[in-house]
Amino acid sequence: MGLGSVSEFCYNLTESYLSIKNNTEIISETQNAIRLTRRYLLEDIFTLWNPLNSEISFSYNGGKDCQVLLLIYLGCLWEFFQMHTRASQFDAKYHQFPSERLPAVFIDQDEIFPTLEQFVTDTVDRYFLSLYESLRDGGKSADMSEAFRQFLKMNPETKGIVIGIRHTDPFAQNLLPIQRTDPDWPDFMRLQPLLHWKLANIWSFLLYSGEPTCGLYKLGFTSIGNINETNPNPYLKATEHTVDDCKFQWEIENAYNKSCSSISCSALHGDDIERAQKLDDDYFPGWFLTDDSLERAGRIKRK
Ligand code: ATP
Repeated sequence: MGLGSVSEFCYNLTESYLSIKNNTEIISETQNAIRLTRRYLLEDIFTLWNPLNSEISFSYNGGKDCQVLLLIYLGCLWEFFQMHTRASQFDAKYHQFPSERLPAVFIDQDEIFPTLEQFVTDTVDRYFLSLYESLRDGGKSADMSEAFRQFLKMNPETKGIVIGIRHTDPFAQNLLPIQRTDPDWPDFMRLQPLLHWKLANIWSFLLYSGEPTCGLYKLGFTSIGNINETNPNPYLKATEHTVDDCKFQWEIENAYNKSCSSISCSALHGDDIERAQKLDDDYFPGWFLTDDSLERAGRIKRK
């Protein structure tokens, strides 16, 4: 396995999702969301910057949104490679996938959940990422813009950074799929092809993929920030709320990656299990929540 093989796997996964017929409204909506993301990548982004020569980096923190985007992005890399192979005068057998690792950047913030940290490490291997991790300044993390400034200094060939932000995230309503950073930020193109995705689309595709997701989602987290600023989502409390039956039963039962027998979540770190045991309530898993307006209800606001 290498970056080429995992990209081919993700291409086949995406094609498989797109070929699902006569299913739920969520699935057909997600199929349209995938088509648009692929169009942004293949027709708008990869025609301006070459994704196979380090002009593009992927911002990755192990969260569900960037994982979904990563799976689709890798599938598009395979498609891009195939298009170039077909256009070449040489037979396909003479073409080798030109990169071994996908350039990626992780801004290592303080107080990260150890389960998430481990998940990032595991997926670096799984998806063949070449991950730049920002340096913590004496144990304290640098602010985001400073961390990206440092990243660009060390990776000056970077022109664009892929970000898994969605319109329903804070301050993201008016963002565009391709836009320059604000003047007070280090200069690069923000590549945001996931903006139009809803929470239900994310879970539908991710659960269908059968790929391991960060174990914290199983504990009722729906969006993951720092340890001291994130709780399981109160709208998933088993004792106080009734939630609909899981809307993704079909995806779970028909998951593409059959090597995992049921929903595949990464192992929980002991400290996070202990933290969960101290909570007063039990929680339904994160994918039981599909209301975008409640996705960040587990985030505690900084004073
Ligand atoms: P979740 O909301 O479930 O935590 P997520 O982390 O993928 O999922 P957001 O927290 O909304 O989504 O972040 C949006 C995007 O911003 C991510 O998908 C990722 O591309 C980028 N991002 C956020 N935090 C970091 C970070 N610390 N390092 C690198 N990229 C980041």
